[in-house]
Amino acid sequence: VFEIGTPTRSVVTTCAYCGVGCSFKAEMRGDELVRMVPFKNGEANRGHSCVKGRFAWGYANHAERILNPMIRDRIDEPWREVSWDEAFAFAALKLRNIQARHGVGAIGGITSSRCTNEETYLVQKLIRQVFGNNNVDTCARVCHSPTGYGLKTTFGTSAGTQNFDSVEQTDVVIVMGANPTDGHPVFGSRLKKRLRQGAKLIVIDPRRIDLVRTPHIEAAHHLALTPGTNVAVMTALAHVIVTEGLVDEDFVRERCDLDAFEDWAAFVSEESRSPEATEAVTGVPAAELRAAARLFATGGNGAIYYGLGVTEHSQGSTTVMAIANLAMATGNIGRPGVGVNPLRGQNNVQGSCDMGSFPHELPGYRHVHDADTRAIFERAWGVKIQDEPGLRIPNMLDAAVDGTFRGIYIQGEDILQSDPNTKHVAAGLAAMDCVIVHDLFLNETANYAHVFLPGSTFLEKDGTFTNAERRINRVRKVMAPKNGLADWEVTQELARSLGADWGYTHPAQVMDEIAATTPGFANVSYDMLEQRGSVQWPCNDAAPEGSPIMHTDGFVRGKGLFVLTDYVATDERTGPRFPLLLTTGRILSQYNVGAQTRRTRNVVWHEGDVLEIHPHDAEQRGVTEGAWVRLASRSGETTLRATLTERVAPGVVYTTFHHPDTQANVITTDYSDWATNCPEYKVTAVQVGLSNGP
Ligand code: SF4
Repeated sequence: VFEIGTPTRSVVTTCAYCGVGCSFKAEMRGDELVRMVPFKNGEANRGHSCVKGRFAWGYANHAERILNPMIRDRIDEPWREVSWDEAFAFAALKLRNIQARHGVGAIGGITSSRCTNEETYLVQKLIRQVFGNNNVDTCARVCHSPTGYGLKTTFGTSAGTQNFDSVEQTDVVIVMGANPTDGHPVFGSRLKKRLRQGAKLIVIDPRRIDLVRTPHIEAAHHLALTPGTNVAVMTALAHVIVTEGLVDEDFVRERCDLDAFEDWAAFVSEESRSPEATEAVTGVPAAELRAAARLFATGGNGAIYYGLGVTEHSQGSTTVMAIANLAMATGNIGRPGVGVNPLRGQNNVQGSCDMGSFPHELPGYRHVHDADTRAIFERAWGVKIQDEPGLRIPNMLDAAVDGTFRGIYIQGEDILQSDPNTKHVAAGLAAMDCVIVHDLFLNETANYAHVFLPGSTFLEKDGTFTNAERRINRVRKVMAPKNGLADWEVTQELARSLGADWGYTHPAQVMDEIAATTPGFANVSYDMLEQRGSVQWPCNDAAPEGSPIMHTDGFVRGKGLFVLTDYVATDERTGPRFPLLLTTGRILSQYNVGAQTRRTRNVVWHEGDVLEIHPHDAEQRGVTEGAWVRLASRSGETTLRATLTERVAPGVVYTTFHHPDTQANVITTDYSDWATNCPEYKVTAVQVGLSNGP
């Protein structure tokens, strides 16, 4: 049952689900949203959309939305509805008391990749200017923080290199640890079109995603690796390219750090890194690896698209750098049809990272150690900026358990559901004196909150989102906030209650401040976006029209840097008790933990998570199609229905994480990426047995 009616006006805005960033006309009847129509002039989607953006907006009117602020002294007390002023005063008193007793660094905050650039910018400003520390982090911590680290190290900036249009000129595509037809459907359709036109496809994924074999598309190679061996596979591909003389020597000579290249070439050439030597580890036949490497190096324009199957590993950052190495070695950077393209799961992952929501970086990926950058913000904000990085989310929780971190402001993020080791997250939250949750619904994290500040939906505010191709799209207010204040106003009022009078009257002024302080955004303004529709950063005097493709003449860091990517096995091991490896992903009709998609009227969004298991493994355990199974790891257990499929290899099981009942993060481990602490969600040793159900 889809929402229908007769519209009387429309407003062009941007989808708040995935990182494709589709533009829609929100068609209204008075103050009521009637339907979302894909906008034909939207540069990211050109009139296309998927079911989520088009139909899954009913959550905005859902009865469970909280519209009034609430407070309580202790988390075992009932909530009390209060005025906004009372809520801000209550929160401010608690935060100031914590800082008086435990120091400036005893509080911090988390921003969300669901929120606008302007909102994220204001949260990090609140923490740096008003809280007086760098204890700010973002939910990108648990998804694409390795992209930030890996691409900044190798290329000099933490972003994908291409626009979506680039796919139309690619000849050979690697899709690694991503499932674009489910996770990024509008881009997935463009990719399929190019593949049907004849571009070759290499899929690197433990699971047989749809792209491997779908009508008129057959992947040239599906490297169905053992979960956790990404680095070994990428290094084996590099081994073939170097030892068989397939390196683009002109590109490397002109564009890359030659000393680093020579070290890397010697490193990957070692026989221990050959496909044959690593076959037993990766589970991929050496001949298949060799053929895939030759195809990528010689097949014309080569592009790599990747997702969380790359980043959410203990070697997530290493794998991102291995991808960058491969692109540079084959000369596949800096022109249409090539490049390294992280597919961002949430609508504004790119933007939340751009806006300085990491504890070590100010807006524009500039380290807090950099005195010149600090001086820019010190002049703008009138305070000293701390010159040491603050705490990451897992460090905040550790410090909370230790008693040194006592208060947190969480905007648009349900860390109890989305972060690893649920028990530890709960212990950290329970230990704090002041947890402020700013969200649409009373989520699981709110069970530990003292202050609940109601959030506004993307339909109720102005702002911008930046999609996976660095495209800054306008988000336009379609209706007044049902809760009375847009999210940027809530953060501003919280700052005011703590003594800072920012005085913004519209998010356009926040963007003006971003442009004044962040070189890559120097020419961005709402007036410009009104005229042009959207623009891809960097957009400044050097690139007044924006930058559809990056690193065209030189890398942002100067010379491209090859990095040695030594494969180190994860500490998560299978054994007699836990003989199978669990990996996770998404389905088309659901979005993350389902807080929005499950709160719509359409039944398609109420399908449960299931466990995919190979028929051979199922037979050994007496598991039949649709049976309830108990899925247990060293961390915890849950109950799911099983489906038997050869999409997964023997020894591997797979599920999605869209329903709170699944509690996927009760199962996952404490291991994380060595460089960024991004959790290793994609590799968990598990056992599966029959169950009577939940
Ligand atoms: Fe929204 Fe992504 Fe679907 Fe586009 S592809 S409509 S941005 S969820």
